[in-house]
Amino acid sequence: MPGRLIRAEGQATTGDVAADEAYAYLGATYELFWEVFQRHSIDGAGLPLIGTVHYGQNYENAFWNGEQMVFGDGDGEIFNRFTIAIDIVGHELAHGVIEHETSLAYKGQSGALNESLADVFGTLVKQYHAKHSVEQADWLIGVGLFTDEVKATALRSMKAPGSAYDDPALGKDPQPGHMRDYVDTTEDNGGVHINSGIPNRAFYLAATAIGGYAWEKSGRIWYEALCDEGLWDTADFSQFAALTVDVAERLYGVGVEQQSVRQAWVDVGVIA
Ligand SMILES: [Zn+2]
Repeated sequence: MPGRLIRAEGQATTGDVAADEAYAYLGATYELFWEVFQRHSIDGAGLPLIGTVHYGQNYENAFWNGEQMVFGDGDGEIFNRFTIAIDIVGHELAHGVIEHETSLAYKGQSGALNESLADVFGTLVKQYHAKHSVEQADWLIGVGLFTDEVKATALRSMKAPGSAYDDPALGKDPQPGHMRDYVDTTEDNGGVHINSGIPNRAFYLAATAIGGYAWEKSGRIWYEALCDEGLWDTADFSQFAALTVDVAERLYGVGVEQQSVRQAWVDVGVIA
C-alpha cells in the first residue's frame, strides 16, 4: 500500500480518528486471540498488524488483503468510515485467521460459514473488549457503520438475522435465520453474506444457552472447530455443526455445552 506511517506500536494518539480507531481495534483483535485463544496474531506466529486508512476516495468497504487491513472512509451518505465498528475490524482480521487455518471455499455454504466465522470472532472481539456477558452483548455487527440517513440499527444481527435494516434505498436485510428460508442465489458468491445468518444465529443460540462470557466456552468451541483438521474446505453447515458438537464433547464432555451446541443447530434447522 502507498502511504506514510502515522502511528507505530506504542505511539500516542494522532488525532486522526480513523487511524486511532484502526490502532485500537487491531489491538483489541490481537488481545482476544492472544489472551483467550493463546494465538499470537493472525498467523499464530506474530504477524505485525498493519492497517491502511483513508484508502481510495469515499471507498465503501474494509478488507484483509492477505497481508494487512485496508479501510475506506465511506461515502458519508450511506456508509460512515469503516474503522467505526470494532466488530467489523475483528471480522476482517478474522478472515486472515480463517485463511491460515482452512481454505473454506468462498461460495455457497462453505463461503457462508467463512463469513459467519468472521462475524463470530468479530463479535467476540467486541464482547471481550467491552467485557460483556451474553446477556449484555447486543449481538449486532457493524453498529454505526450506516449513517443517520439510513434506516438501520446495524449491518447484521446474529440474534435476529434479517432485522438489521429496512431502508427505502437499501432495501431490507436479506439474512435468513433458519434453513427453511435459505436463499438459493448466484449473487454474492451464492449468498455468502446472506445465508451466514443461519450459522450466526446458531452461535448466538449456543452462546446464550451456555451463558456467561461467549469467548470462554462457545467461542472456544468455535475456535477449536475452526482449527480442527476435520474442517474441510468444502464443509457445509451440517458438517460444521457436527464438528462443533464433537469439539464441545471433547472439551467439556457430554453436558450442557454439548447439548446447547447441538440444540442450537437443531433450532436453525441445520441438523435434525
Ligand atoms: Zn467477510
